[in-house]
Order: sequence, then C-alpha cells, then structure tokens
Amino acid sequence: MDEFALIREFFAPLSRGFDGGLGLTDDAAILPCSNEVDFIVTKDALSEGVHFIGTESPRLLAQKALRVNLSDLAAMGAKPMAYLLAVMLPHHVDSAWVAEFARGLQEDQDTFGIYLAGGDTIATKGPLTFSITAIGTAPAGKALRRSHAQAGDRIFVTGTLGDSALGLELLHRKINIAMQKEARQFLESRYFLPEPRVAAGQRLISLATSCMDISDGLVQDMSHICRASETGAVMEIQKLPLSSAARTLVQEDASLWPAIFSGGDDYELLFTVPEARVPEVASLADELKLPMTDIGHMKAESGATLLDDRGKPVKIDAPGFRHFVT
Ligand code: ADP
Ligand code: MG
Repeated sequence: MDEFALIREFFAPLSRGFDGGLGLTDDAAILPCSNEVDFIVTKDALSEGVHFIGTESPRLLAQKALRVNLSDLAAMGAKPMAYLLAVMLPHHVDSAWVAEFARGLQEDQDTFGIYLAGGDTIATKGPLTFSITAIGTAPAGKALRRSHAQAGDRIFVTGTLGDSALGLELLHRKINIAMQKEARQFLESRYFLPEPRVAAGQRLISLATSCMDISDGLVQDMSHICRASETGAVMEIQKLPLSSAARTLVQEDASLWPAIFSGGDDYELLFTVPEARVPEVASLADELKLPMTDIGHMKAESGATLLDDRGKPVKIDAPGFRHFVT
C-alpha cells in the first residue's frame, strides 16, 4: 500500500465526525475559532535520506522543515501564526549543530512572521528527523480548499516547475550535461530551500476556486484537486513555466521532462480560477512580482491529463512521488 492508501484506509476513518479534518484529503485542517477566524493546522515530517541528503547545513535543514509547512498554510490561504517543533536527534548531533539549526529558524521566523510555541526534543538511534506542526489563521469559512474547482476554470501555477527535482538529480550526479555554475547552483538551491508562496496564498482567498501546494509532482497533485472537486484537468506541456536553467536541461535531454511534471519538492501553488476572473490573476502576479502561469483548464470528465505539443496525452509512468512504493 502506498501512503495515500494507508491514509485513506486506516487514518481517514479516525477523522470522521470532525468536518474540519476535511477527510484528511487537503493540505491542512480547518479548526473553527470565532465568527471571524479559523485556525489552519498542518504537520509535515522530514527524515534524513528521504527528504534531505544529510550534508546540508543545520541552518538550511531548519528552514526547509519550517518552509514545507508554511507552504501547506499558503495552500489554504492562511497567515502564519505559530509552530510546534519535534526534533529527533542522533547522538552525533552536538550543541553547535543545534545552535545553527535555531539560527536558521530565527531567520525564517523573521521572514515569515511566525513563532515557536512548543515541541519535543529526543535522542534517537535512527536518522535525523524533524516534524513541525504549523498553525495559521484564515477568515472564517474562507480558507482555500482542493475541492471547489469547476469545469471550465483555468488552472494556474506560481513560479517555475521542476527546478528542485532537477537540482536533486544534479546533486546525485544523475545528469551529465555541462552547464554554467550559476544555473546549477540555482537548481540546487531550489531543492535546498523552497520558497513558500505565503503572500500569494492569502491573496488567492476569494479569487481561487481551489488551491494546493505542489509537493509531490504536478500531475499527481493535480489529480488530488480533480478527485476532491469531482472534476478533471487538461494541462498543456508547452505552457508549463520553466526556469531558463531547467529549459536548457530538458532541451538537451528530453528524458528529463518527468522531473518537470512529476518531480517533487516544487512548493509552488497550483490553483483554479473562473475564466471571468483571469485578469485579476495577472494583476496579482504583477503586484507580487511572482509569475502565475495558465497551464490548462478544468473539465467535467474525471482524470488529470497532460497534453504534448501535438495535443496527444503524454504517457506518464509515475505521476509523482509516493512513500512506500518500491
Ligand atoms: P501534503 O503533501 O499537503 O503535506 P500529504 O500528501 O503529506 O499532504 O498528506 C495528505 C493528507 O493526509 C493531508 O491531509 C494530511 O494531513 C493527511 N495525513 C497524512 N498522514 C497522516 C497521518 N498519519 N494521520 C493523519 N493524517 C495524515
Ligand atoms: Mg500540501
């Protein structure tokens, strides 16, 4: 069973009776707080060898741990408030390491306006692992969900896709294409340090009909919106936004395309907007200086399809990353 089957079968039943859990199918839970505000709560764990290589600085690891959670808050349109931190430290970790880890957190707390509110610190015989629970707020009843996309809506993504997956392949020396140092460093830095779209998420409230963050690959994550919204999606490969570094690589080696549409760790927002409101997306993108690219449209028939430049469906072996799949 992959992670989604495990969640569906064993964990989702435990959320029955609490609407705010959204059946464990969204980026975060919605906890009613007052007539004005809902709390938005999310949790992500990172483990050495799975979510990070292990050679990263403690400062970067701390920031990645916090940022992947901030990305889920952004996906719901929430404003960050506080977080809880659990660190499971192998014995080789010393206080200098923890000092650097804390420095990374402080920097990002200042950047994103969030504060540590609790947690747990334990020694482990296993790999270095962290888990963060992040809490944000959204106007009551307004948090963005995966479930309200309508047939005919346009599909948008922020930023560029695939940089992080290509960066990881470069780090693992799986790509043998000569490239400029700056381009390589750009792709690697996109893997090491995601840029959660926190401001954009908040502004998409009452503009987007559905939203999520892309963490496990565009095609697979799009299929989550389709399932939650009981709709389908048609995306076009030539519309996908690529950084110049990523474009250089796929032009050189077309077999790298899956990193763009099913590679993980993008942490960009994927959202849908009614056709009539598309001009508002362009103004928002201008204002935030963040590209928001139209990559296709929602349709009534189920399933997420990606079309090639001749309009034929791209054959996709694995639509995205899943734990427990060998
Ligand atoms: P994301 O990539 O947005 O962080 P995931 O794919 O990790 O989301 O998880 C999908 C959904 O399943 C989320 O709603 C998450 O809260 C829920 N989930 C995952 N694992 C568990 C668990 N062990 N217990 C309860 N809910 C879980
Ligand atoms: Mg998410």
